[in-house]
Amino acid sequence: MKSRSRAAVLSAAVLLAALTGAPEASAAPARAPRALPSVDMEAVVKAAQIDPRRPDSTLTPGAKASVLLVERALSDRHLLDKKWVDGYFGTMTVDAFAKYQKSLGYTGLGANGLPGKASLTKLGEGRFKVAHVITPGPRVHIGAFVINVRTQKMLAEAQRLLHRRLTLDQGSYNPGGDPTSAGTHDGGGVVDVDVKGMSAATRTSVARALRRVGFAAWVRNPSQGDWPWHIHAAAINDTDLSSQAQHQIGDYYLGENGLAGRGPDDGPKVTPIRTWEEYLRLVHPTRP
Ligand SMILES: [Zn+2]
Repeated sequence: MKSRSRAAVLSAAVLLAALTGAPEASAAPARAPRALPSVDMEAVVKAAQIDPRRPDSTLTPGAKASVLLVERALSDRHLLDKKWVDGYFGTMTVDAFAKYQKSLGYTGLGANGLPGKASLTKLGEGRFKVAHVITPGPRVHIGAFVINVRTQKMLAEAQRLLHRRLTLDQGSYNPGGDPTSAGTHDGGGVVDVDVKGMSAATRTSVARALRRVGFAAWVRNPSQGDWPWHIHAAAINDTDLSSQAQHQIGDYYLGENGLAGRGPDDGPKVTPIRTWEEYLRLVHPTRP
């Protein structure tokens, strides 16, 4: 628009204000806030678990646009080389995100490279909004064990599906507690379920119910490690996951067993794989 016609429009607005008696200030249209694009936090966190484990450059479905926004923000802060701004949340992006979290003063699980609500929101200031926010919730004690509220709700739903109470052998936030767990229980979202007294069929049905509500869950037996029979379950998309547990979830999506040898998945197939939030939208379709 040329300046003369712009001036004409403005004076027309002022004139209109005078005619209608409205104060002049309200006659000029308020500048609309710039609409920011949205980052889908669920999609980004999922990609950050799967992509580092992929043997190829396949992108996580539904995540590309959001991952690109996050990667551009990291690159603009000189935390990620431009050549890695590609929509693939691989190890370079996880490392860059961890550096960003450390720059905010976070340590330990708070700098696990998995976008959390606070760090992602901060990264997005003036750049993007965060949609589909995931929160692990506060930590709660279950007997001798500690888990977070998100995990607690997931376990409660699995129990409801099974019509059976589940007992834990190990909880979350347990660094160095059980050396056979190789760090998977150091962070949030991870539990071991006691299978004492269960038949093989029951163990399988418990693992299936855990998978349905959004855990990567496997029946573990003594031939695989220095442990008794149990079910190891890691909550997909828990933003408090330790690095080792993040890898197990990536492996689960890729059809593997989550053990160091990366063997084939030996558990009951539940397809498609769903996170807890995806499960909730499935059973309560009216939820946002
Ligand atoms: Zn375990």
